[in-house]
Amino acid sequence: MNNSKLETRNSKLVTALLCVVFAGACAKAPARTAPAAPPPPPAPAPADLARGWDAEHVSSPLSPLVDHAEVVRRLDEVKKASPDLFGVESIGQSLEGRSINHVTLGRGPFPVLLWSQMHGDEPSATSALFDLFEYVQRHRDDPMVRRLLDALTIHVVPMLNPDGAARFQRRNVQSIDINRDALLLQTLEGQLLKGLRDRLNPKIGFNLHNQSWRTSAGRPPKPASISLLSVAFDEARSMNEGRTLTKKTCAIIRDALELLAPGQIGRYDDDYEVRAFGDNVTKWGTPVVLIETGPWTTLGNPDPALVRLNFVAILTALDALATGRVSQADPQRYESLPLNESRLFYILVKNASIVNGAGVAPFTGDIGIVANRFVAEDGGRKVVRLALRIDDLGDLRTFGAIETIDATGLVAAPLFAQELKPGQEVTLPAWTAMQKNPWTLEVGQAGGVVLLKPASEGRYVVERVIMPAVTLEGGR
Ligand SMILES: [Zn+2]
Repeated sequence: MNNSKLETRNSKLVTALLCVVFAGACAKAPARTAPAAPPPPPAPAPADLARGWDAEHVSSPLSPLVDHAEVVRRLDEVKKASPDLFGVESIGQSLEGRSINHVTLGRGPFPVLLWSQMHGDEPSATSALFDLFEYVQRHRDDPMVRRLLDALTIHVVPMLNPDGAARFQRRNVQSIDINRDALLLQTLEGQLLKGLRDRLNPKIGFNLHNQSWRTSAGRPPKPASISLLSVAFDEARSMNEGRTLTKKTCAIIRDALELLAPGQIGRYDDDYEVRAFGDNVTKWGTPVVLIETGPWTTLGNPDPALVRLNFVAILTALDALATGRVSQADPQRYESLPLNESRLFYILVKNASIVNGAGVAPFTGDIGIVANRFVAEDGGRKVVRLALRIDDLGDLRTFGAIETIDATGLVAAPLFAQELKPGQEVTLPAWTAMQKNPWTLEVGQAGGVVLLKPASEGRYVVERVIMPAVTLEGGR
């Protein structure tokens, strides 16, 4: 028997003796429980928040085009419109002299820190933060916003890596991945984030990123539109109070988002990365939730749908923290999320007769095409483009796609002329004469593909043209 058991037994004995002395009193004594706390207010309905976003959001439809100047302008605007609600300070500058800003909302006892775009080409959450500021302003007298501002102090760093954002690149101007610089702190941006964390000592942090459009959740694979991670603080992925809080917060976010994006929520691999900020911020005492924004379910510009999900995720999580509802969440709702996988293509052409344009005899197979997003100059203005590339070829039945094309009975060939249109009748070029054609249907090649329906001898009708590059439209 160990000491604590002995103590328990002794204390039981003492209680029993006291009960004999004060006979009757014990039987009537009420159980020693704390007075029942009032139940937390109900969670906001995700569909209501999403509808609110539809009606009121201010973020632009193409988040890759949001630059540092826009961040500064928007922060000036909210501060001017509601100086009593928003505190805005510059905590320092990037290497190229762009301000890195810290926004404060609320005066509650529970400090929360959110930072976005530590990777310059991961912009979705920055836009969602603008929409959060707008929501707080517009609804400042609503009970939900009032309890947020009473219970929490919300600290926000939108666009931690403005130099990377200016180039739409992951790394900062030193070519360092800031998210692998938490130990050496060779980046000004990393130093500023650590300095802010140490000054504020937040009780929870939200690290806001975008993940590859190849990321899938579940089988059959669906787009992992949002992936969540309760960030580990050691190799053993140990549990502590902080990780329980972040797992419960992830569970709250999952339950909210799954109503808007069923089957599209994934769990990010929780391997400990000794150099990363999320892991170290957690270790330093601020448990971190990682929110990764991934692909959406439609071709073209996914931003509005994804910014909307971010907005609902962040607001729902903050409300659960403010009301204490988070304590009732079931961490299993996080644990049971499907792990992220890379099983998604942008377009998957299935079961085509492939004429690869490189002299190989036709064969039957699937073509997996991926899309990468980049910012380009076009006539003096910036545009967002997608570059399509063939990433896999053969039997791709274990993969999913944003769009799957059943090409049974069709010929897939390299897009041999830019002006091809559906319905047009063509003959295939003599590929041997096309030695200089850079487009062949091979892995690593541009994703320009034409799907053709065999017509009369040697002639084909164009069924579908997949362009190797697409400019995204910014219209709402
Ligand atoms: Zn990232």
